[in-house]
Amino acid sequence: VRYRPPRSLVAVLLAAASTAGATTIVGMTERALGRSADAIVIGTVARIETVAGRDGAIHTLVTLEVEERYKGHVAPVVTLKQPGGRLGGRQLWIAGSPRFVRGERQLVFLSARRDGTARTTALGLGQFRLAPHPRTGDVMAERPVDLLVLGARPLRRVPLWKLLRTLRRAARDDRGRATAPLLAEPPELSLPGLERETVEAFQVMDAPPARWFEPDGGQPVVYAVDPSGDAKLGPTASLAAIDGALAAWTNVSGAAITLARGGAAVPAPLSCNGVTQIVFNDPFDEMGAPVGCSGVLALGGYCSGAASTVVNGLTFYRILEGNITFNSGFGGCSFWNTANLAEVATHEVGHTIGIGHSSEDDVAAPELKDATMYYRAHFDGRGAAVHADDVDAVRFVYPGPGGGPDDSDADGRQDAEDNCPKLPNAAQTDSDGDGLGDLCDACPLESDAEGALCEPIFVSKLVATRTRRRGRIVWRGSIDLPEDATVDAARALLVHQSGVLVDTAMGSSLGASARHPSALRYRSGRGQIVLRRRGPGTYAVRVTVRRVDLGTAPVPLISASLRVGSVSFSDSLACSRRRGRRFTCRG
Ligand SMILES: [Zn+2]
Repeated sequence: VRYRPPRSLVAVLLAAASTAGATTIVGMTERALGRSADAIVIGTVARIETVAGRDGAIHTLVTLEVEERYKGHVAPVVTLKQPGGRLGGRQLWIAGSPRFVRGERQLVFLSARRDGTARTTALGLGQFRLAPHPRTGDVMAERPVDLLVLGARPLRRVPLWKLLRTLRRAARDDRGRATAPLLAEPPELSLPGLERETVEAFQVMDAPPARWFEPDGGQPVVYAVDPSGDAKLGPTASLAAIDGALAAWTNVSGAAITLARGGAAVPAPLSCNGVTQIVFNDPFDEMGAPVGCSGVLALGGYCSGAASTVVNGLTFYRILEGNITFNSGFGGCSFWNTANLAEVATHEVGHTIGIGHSSEDDVAAPELKDATMYYRAHFDGRGAAVHADDVDAVRFVYPGPGGGPDDSDADGRQDAEDNCPKLPNAAQTDSDGDGLGDLCDACPLESDAEGALCEPIFVSKLVATRTRRRGRIVWRGSIDLPEDATVDAARALLVHQSGVLVDTAMGSSLGASARHPSALRYRSGRGQIVLRRRGPGTYAVRVTVRRVDLGTAPVPLISASLRVGSVSFSDSLACSRRRGRRFTCRG
């Protein structure tokens, strides 16, 4: 059993679920952040201190010496109050938190709480660390992204000047919107009688593994749940989503954890107050309102103590309490429905039992991308479901009697003779004949025996539409094509669980004779592949295929491959349910 120690916890972050080329989405996301923030500054981390309140609250106070202000009114020295931290043996971990190290220079987006104290906007998304590029010396802005994200991959690294240009544009659009003033110092900075500790770094995300000890004694883990439910979806649907999430983890055979819904939660802020709770509609304004359907969707974490135990060779600290708070204000967004609430709840509950992300890499193995614990939301209608890699993780952390079934993915093929045992693929399609089914193969067009690797396809999106004559598929993405690549032919291969959806080889490209062609076009009887140059080595790809037999069975996952000349690209796409005549899949 392969297992990654839980690196990060909870917190769901939604980037705008829009559709467009990569750069636009990224720009929009930073613009939304810029619009939402009350202040934007560059400063240096001067001091970090963790303080504990009597009510169980743990905060980390981060003092910044401000050198430059881009928005809002901020004192030359400002102290942020970030939720979470480690004090003595106790810790409160809030997933997706920003990271701070003393002496580090950062660009931060700041928001005022109701009491005027400052915090980063949208947790870790509102933070960029600044450091010179090792080769060019340009100042680069970088951030870790370890939240659950919907939509486009968030910007992780960008030259500072480019980021500032985006922010200036956002500020121009935004003229006249009032910003809240930020307190220079939260009261906790000087309040006597608080337990406090100065630390060098605030990096709660790099936390050691933790687990509940209750299952070891056959006890359930009980969540008090806010009976009012999500304001848009209502109490019945909301509680059903939570019950589904708890059951999804409980029902894994070979794992010994039981999660149960207890009484009604009296909503409390995220703190270590001894109550494990799930709360809706952000009653304590802990995450800020969404902007244009983007922002933090839910916040969660857990409290752990100093006791530890060893399971499967790994030392785990004891989880004492888990908390999840859902935001308000997403009710009007197209994606906000019961199935998606259930998916988010399942992901968040997974964090509260100590399970980290299957991967935070956009170019991850298909079964890691398929996991409910992947860092990006699927919103493919899966609802409260755990998939193969989630099952491995919970079995590892809470080993129990009874093993897994002989057919893990329930596709009618015993694991021992399934060429892709972790993803349903009844058809067993294996285009390159390397023994690895296409749905599990990171490179379905190149036999692994040759040690071939595929290049990634970024911001991949596929729309399948049923037409009068069968169906039509439009698949778009972005690729990096090496300057010396041959571009004489192209092939697109789309495979799903029931077999090959599209396999179309196309000959000689128009435009391929130029040294750095601005466009490459390949045609066959049924479709075409168009590559348009977007920058040095970067091409936008559009594959259009007509007369595709879309069938009527669900298409949860598509293995999407492209070959241009001698270079192969691949991505696995998670698909929405069919709505009317179409469904949409995203990489
Ligand atoms: Zn997560």
